[in-house]
Amino acid sequence: MWAPIGRLRGHVPVARPDERAGPTRRQIGSARLARTGDRMILAVALVIAAAIASMIAFSLLAAERVDQAARDRWNVLILESLSRRAGDLQRDLASFAHWDESVLRTAYFLDVNWVHENFGRWLHDTQGHDRSYVVLESGLGYAAINGSLMPTDIAPFDADAMLPLVRGVEAAFKEQVAQAALTTRQNERPRELPPVFRAGYMRVEGRPALVGAISITPDYGRVVSPTRVPPIAVTVVFLDAGFLGDLIAELHVVAPTITNAPPEESRQSVLIPFHDGTIAPAWLSWIPENPGASLLRALLPALMGTAILLLAAAIIILWYARRATHELAKSEALASRLAYVDSLCGLANRAMLMRTLRDRLVRVSPGARLAVFFLDLDGFKDINDTLGHHVGDMLLAEIGARLGALKLPSLLASRFGGDEFVLLATVGDDDQEIEAIGAEVLDTVRRPARIAGQMLALSGSIGATVAPDHGTEASELIRLADIAVYRAKSEGRGCFRLFTPRMEREVVRRRDLEIELRRALAEGELAVYYQPQFSVDGETVIGFEALVRWLHPVQGLISPGEFIPVAEQSGLVTELDMWVLRRVCEQTRGWGDTKVAVNLSPVDFRSRDLADTVRGILRETDFPPERLEIEITENLLFGNQPEAFAALAALRNLGIRIALDDFGSGYSSLGYIRRFRVDTIKIDRSFIQNIGHTEDAAAIIDCVVRLARALAITVTAEGVETREQLRYLQSVGCHHVQGFLLSAPVPLVSVGRFLERTVRGEGTSLSQAQR
Ligand code: C2E
Ligand code: CA
Ligand code: CA
Repeated sequence: MWAPIGRLRGHVPVARPDERAGPTRRQIGSARLARTGDRMILAVALVIAAAIASMIAFSLLAAERVDQAARDRWNVLILESLSRRAGDLQRDLASFAHWDESVLRTAYFLDVNWVHENFGRWLHDTQGHDRSYVVLESGLGYAAINGSLMPTDIAPFDADAMLPLVRGVEAAFKEQVAQAALTTRQNERPRELPPVFRAGYMRVEGRPALVGAISITPDYGRVVSPTRVPPIAVTVVFLDAGFLGDLIAELHVVAPTITNAPPEESRQSVLIPFHDGTIAPAWLSWIPENPGASLLRALLPALMGTAILLLAAAIIILWYARRATHELAKSEALASRLAYVDSLCGLANRAMLMRTLRDRLVRVSPGARLAVFFLDLDGFKDINDTLGHHVGDMLLAEIGARLGALKLPSLLASRFGGDEFVLLATVGDDDQEIEAIGAEVLDTVRRPARIAGQMLALSGSIGATVAPDHGTEASELIRLADIAVYRAKSEGRGCFRLFTPRMEREVVRRRDLEIELRRALAEGELAVYYQPQFSVDGETVIGFEALVRWLHPVQGLISPGEFIPVAEQSGLVTELDMWVLRRVCEQTRGWGDTKVAVNLSPVDFRSRDLADTVRGILRETDFPPERLEIEITENLLFGNQPEAFAALAALRNLGIRIALDDFGSGYSSLGYIRRFRVDTIKIDRSFIQNIGHTEDAAAIIDCVVRLARALAITVTAEGVETREQLRYLQSVGCHHVQGFLLSAPVPLVSVGRFLERTVRGEGTSLSQAQR
């Protein structure tokens, strides 16, 4: 038994489109799809990475901004605090300096102990001032170092640093006095003036310090202030731990320090605002708060978690997307393979063939030609109809496998459609090479095949074209190859024909003929000739066969052998046959009961109402059905079409006789005769003409006659041309004969003399016949 088609395809070295012609366009498309998919995924991955990176960058930037704003604010706060501190010195000093008692005890007589009690020690103890001095016009009058009274001659006093400040106060005081004098009237007691205060940051003995100086002036005026230079109280606060402790207490600054060199990067700092720009700079620095960084630190775990989650989600999604595009690309590739393979026989399909053909045609040259073989299986339709489609399919698969296994030069085997296959092969200059390939393919097809338990003999017809000789356009080459197949079929099937331009001219001629024939039918250029049929004695006329003729006004008499096939192909034949039938009925109605045979084409039997039409014609012409014989060919019976059998049965039921024409020329089978009863068998003239030439012709005729007689079927021999043939037919007991020996087909006017020789008792007058 045959392997199922699916398995068959698996181990047959069939022309795989992708192997023979490189990757298909669609497959390239699939690869491109996969690549595009990958690129898109990469792009999305980059976008996600960029998003995460920019999120981090943004967070860092925002933190930095927040930190910068905080630093700016802190700078302002610290500088404000430093200047406030300078102002605060005035308050500290004023309680002492703006007091009558102080003027008395400094300007008028210097009470060192009192000054110490109320100024130097007091400021040290309550305000933490490091040094206090009273500068008189005569010089330093009082000094207290770290809250201890110290003799002025040994007490440290950085005159270079502090005296400019003292002189400033003195100058301002004098200015103030001068202004007051201008505005004070004569003999009026001068107004008591407010103390003059100056403060500033400077280096005292090289150490950064805040120094304040104030003029000692009366408050209630019980003491008159000296008009010249007032005593000046000076106080020094070093910017040391105590000073910084206050800063910590006030502003909660972390780890403040004073340095003479710029502090390290991590610390925030301001320059001490020395009152004189020439003083070597000093920095107040502290550990900055950095709220942005702190916030970022606090948020970092959450941010990291989010980023990781996002990344993980993105990776998963992209992974799926990648897999999906690859799956898609794979199924695309599969689909494209299927789109180019014939699923029934595993060969390339028509689309693939046309693509390959176009690709190859670009490269043909006279030395490297491309042959296109068009193979059409003979009688495949009959196999399909009689044995069923599944057998037909298996047969196509078998033929496909055989063609696929052929070893021909750079071959592509394809199924073109139905039972048509097209093969491509590169050939050299020699046409014999093409013939050889054609013969090999025919041999391959001809090998009997065992399908569904029965042996089937098959044949095929091949037409071939060659590029560039016959053309370089794919569909044109196929069209011409198809014309060559047609020629092969019409010249007896099972053979190979290489296209020639004449074939195409004939096709054109056939087309023209078809147009002409339509016209001829309409304009009455057709006529019916009658060929008499004789009893085997060669004397008695037993009937006539009606044969159509075309009396062409230009081309003369055209034989039906030429135009009937054209009419059959165009569907015109039924109209023609019915015209002939009607004509015969009209012309031969008066011939007594002489039998007349009319030929019908198998095509006529495709129309459902054939029997009705025939009955209508018989009735209209008043022609007795028993006189009519219809000649059909074996092909009609072989086709096994139920409609054909039904139509035949209907004709028989009308009383019409049926003759089987050209018996032996086709699929002769007595089986068919038994399945459908015919009244007459007409042995094909090829057998008659071989009498005396081949032994089997005679033997076959003998055999057919015996069998027909056994079945009570009349046997007519056609094409009898010689006396020997007639003698042999007489010897084997053939019933009737027809042929040129006795008479060629004759026009109606010439029928008379044969009518006289019809079987006695069935006399018909000449005048009737000629009407
Ligand atoms: P056919 O039915 O086999 O008709 C017999 C053919 O053999 C006729 O050719 C006839 O002229 C020819 N013939 C008769 N005796 C001899 C002989 O001794 N030697 C040779 N060599 N030939 C002989 P024709 O008239 O050219 O017709 C050819 C074919 O055309 C017919 O073959 C028939 O199949 C078809 N045909 C003719 N008339 C009609 C028609 O009205 N309708 C249809 N459908 N087919 C027709
Ligand atoms: Ca005939
Ligand atoms: Ca015949």
